[in-house]
Formats: sequence, C-alpha cells, structure tokens
Amino acid sequence: MPPKEQYILALDQGTTSSRAILFNHEGIIIAVRQIPFNQIFPKPGWVEHDPMEIWSTQLEAARGAIASAQIEGDQILAIGITNQRETTILWEKDTGRPVYNAIVWQCRRSSGICEELKKGGAEPFIRQRTGLVADAYFSGTKLTWLFRERPELRVRAERGELMFGTVDSWLIYNLTGRHATDPTNASRTLMFNIRERCWDDDLLKLLDIPKAILPEVLPSSGYFGTTKKELFGVEIPVTGVAGDQQAALFGHACFEPGEAKNTYGTGCFTLMNAGPFPLESGHNLITTVAWDLGRGYTYALEGSVFVAGAVIQWLRDQMGLLTESAESETLARSVPDTGGVYMVPAFVGLGAPYWDSEVRGTIVGLTRGTTRAHFVRAALEAIAYESRDLLDAMEKDSGKRLCSIKADGGAAANSFLMQFQADILNRNVVLPEVTETTALGAAYMAGLASGYWSGLDDVKKNWRMRREFRPEMNGEARAGLVAGWNKAVATARSYR
Ligand code: ADP
Repeated sequence: MPPKEQYILALDQGTTSSRAILFNHEGIIIAVRQIPFNQIFPKPGWVEHDPMEIWSTQLEAARGAIASAQIEGDQILAIGITNQRETTILWEKDTGRPVYNAIVWQCRRSSGICEELKKGGAEPFIRQRTGLVADAYFSGTKLTWLFRERPELRVRAERGELMFGTVDSWLIYNLTGRHATDPTNASRTLMFNIRERCWDDDLLKLLDIPKAILPEVLPSSGYFGTTKKELFGVEIPVTGVAGDQQAALFGHACFEPGEAKNTYGTGCFTLMNAGPFPLESGHNLITTVAWDLGRGYTYALEGSVFVAGAVIQWLRDQMGLLTESAESETLARSVPDTGGVYMVPAFVGLGAPYWDSEVRGTIVGLTRGTTRAHFVRAALEAIAYESRDLLDAMEKDSGKRLCSIKADGGAAANSFLMQFQADILNRNVVLPEVTETTALGAAYMAGLASGYWSGLDDVKKNWRMRREFRPEMNGEARAGLVAGWNKAVATARSYR
C-alpha cells in the first residue's frame, strides 16, 4: 500500500469565527471549516468572548475540516495555530476553567489606565521596552483592569493558582496541557521586552501584574506539545504559533527585510519585515516581533488604518449609495476621476502616521456636478491614500524602498482599488494565488518545524502570484493627487 499523504492543519482563531484549514505540501487548501461564535458587548466600547466557546468552536472546526477531507488523524503531521491578537484570558491552573470572559483586543475598558500611564510619563519607557504605545488595545492594561476590579483574583494569581494567556496560549493549553506562547503574541502584551526577549520585571511592576501567571515563551516555529489523544484519536504535535498579522506576513513569504504586506479588511493592517533588529519608528509605527524560527528574532514595523473597507460598508449600509460592496468597482470605473472630490474617512480619528483621535470624517471639493460615482470613487481612493501614508512612513523608518506590496483581505478583491494603489504608491501590488495567507503562515511555521518543508526556499517555491498591478500613472499626475489628499487631510485636521 502506498504511504498515506500527509497534511498540515492550521487553526485560525479569529475575532468573529474559529476556522480550521488543511494544507498539502504545495500549500493548497484541502479542506476548510469555519464556525462563528458570539460577540459579547456588556457596555458601550466593551467587547468580550466566552473562552469556552472559543475552544469548543475551534475544536469543532478542526474535527470538521478533518472529516470533510476524509482523512485519518494520523495523516496530520503537525498543527499550526494563528489567532486574534492581544485578547486576554485568565484561567485556573487546576481545573482549566476561565475565571472571567476573554477581554477582546477591541475592548476599550482600560483606556483610563492607559491615560494614567501616559500622565505618569511611562510611555517612552513602554515604547522602548515593548515597541508599543500605552493603548487599551494591548493585553497588559486589560489584566491590570481585571486585577483592580477583582482583587481576589490578584491574590490567587500571586499564589500561582491562575494562568494568563492570549488566545494562542489558551488553545495550546487546551490542546496539549502546556502553558506556552510565542514571541509574536508575547510582543503584544505590553509585558514583553522585545530587545531582551523575555518578560520584563519593570513592566510587570508598572502594570502590577504577578509574574507567576505568565506562559513560557517558545519559538514560533518549534515544538509546543502534543495534542491529548482523546481530541483527534491520535497525538498530533503542535509546532507553529503566531499572531494573525505576523502569520499573514509569513504566509505571503515576506522573508526579506523591506518586504511588506497590506491586508485590506474592515481596516488595513500593514506589516513590513524589518530584519533582525527592533527598528524604532520615528513615525509612530509599532515595532513588533515578526517571528522566531528558533534561530533568533525577525522584527516587523506595523501600522494600521482604522477605517478602510468599512468606508465601503458605510456607503452601502448607512448611506444607501451601493447595493453591494463589489458595485463600488463598477461605479468608480464609470468616471475618469473623482472630479476633485476627496474623502478623509477619519470616522474614529486617524491612526499612523497622524495619531490624531480628534479628527472626524471630511469630504472636500464638492460641486454641482458631483455624482454618486465620484463619491464612491473618492472613498476607494481614500483607502489607497491612507495605505500610502503608512507605507511611506515605513520606508522612511526603515530606509528601505519597497519593491512591491503583497495584498490580501476582502477589499483586495476590488481591482480598481488595487490598480489605484499601485498608481499612487508607484510600486507593484501583488495578489497571491492562496488568499488564506494567515492560516498558510501558521501552517508553514508548523511544517518547517516538523520537516514537512525543508526550509524557507522550499516554502517560497509554493508562493504563486494570481495577479500583479503595475503603476501606470505618470509622476506629475501622482504628485498632483497626493498633494490634494494632503490638503484634504490638513483640512480635516483643522476642523475641531
Ligand atoms: P475583516 O476580516 O476585517 O472582517 P474582510 O477581509 O472580510 O474583513 O473584508 C471585508 C471588508 O472589505 C468590508 O469592510 C467590505 O466593505 C470590504 N469589501 C469587500 N468586498 C469589497 C469590494 N469588492 N470592494 C471594496 N470593498 C470591499
């Protein structure tokens, strides 16, 4: 009998659903299973998940993917995990029971604590040690909040009775019984020193968090433990772990310094491989760990645009200008330009490189001739301008010129947007054949550690391009449009 074919299983635990994807050696998807779960909104600005539901949906998705591929558990060589980042879970060491709901990355409940930290002058110190800013987005102040709210938990934490983890740790623990994380996730907690590569006692003191609750930090590509036999009928090693954005950078095969990816979803997440040193940003970008393949860290610069695809959603759902998102492309193409209209979709302020939370959405340049098509085109172009501002900051910080940018996410399906992005960046924009880059990145990390792929070159061979958008705009036209965008941003910022 010929040997049975082997696969890698990626667990992609996202903010709204748990997914499991089986990949073969060519990096091709064999089976996918996706299960949504509940979003809990206890108060305005607060977001929670039930950790048990995260685990049960993830397990069901994994079993579902294996069943639909009609393979046996022993055909899975290894498991890779990728996850929503920063989301904070605390559970009992003895029973494995969570002591509170997962506090989700989007949750703003600890913004008061962040203000305290800033007022106390801690931000430069935090930035220097963690590469991050004092924001409620990251795990640390979520834990500080929880211990202040429930002092008895802090006492139990001190006694070593509790375990903290981001979602990767929670899954590793439930799969294998081990309490571990990887540096891509650790580097989002505000407690991890990205230079010394360890949990930082001074940061823990600042945040008033007992060290006893922290997981062991293991390389992103390496052995994390073996799944309990009752879960899949066989024991499967977990050999890859990375936060979702870093996994996507890896799945795009951005292995060289200066290579970057942009995910066009609700917002945009841009990451650039910064190489083996934790480059400090002069433009308020975040410095984060890209991965640790067991041979030392690779770092990344990261920036995000808060409102990207969401502006199209807004035009569709609130303004009624579109019946579906894809219609934005046809409309944008029906006019030669925006007729001088610029839209700055700063609905919740502007992120990097502006970091201005007081700005609001602004539309300039309206005339009697402005039509729905101009409006929609201006919204799509805004996504490209916002991404250009980020990538421009990354090029300045890194001193590296991007050769191209790799794209994924829902709005990357819009070819008008991708072409305009290439034009306005004056760089190629490249779409990969496999758009599930996040899960693929986790699979690659797991497969590299288990010998399924022999090295980065082997993985890179799998990377196939679906489409490339090359700049077609002349320099003068580009400069004129960018100057207009800059004026529109300045106008938006001058209105308070
Ligand atoms: P997320 O993972 O952030 O939920 P997705 O990657 O699924 O987001 O992308 C969804 C976003 O992309 C939505 O905001 C939607 O409006 C936008 N979008 C989807 N298709 C298109 C399209 N053809 N043109 C422009 N925007 C689109």
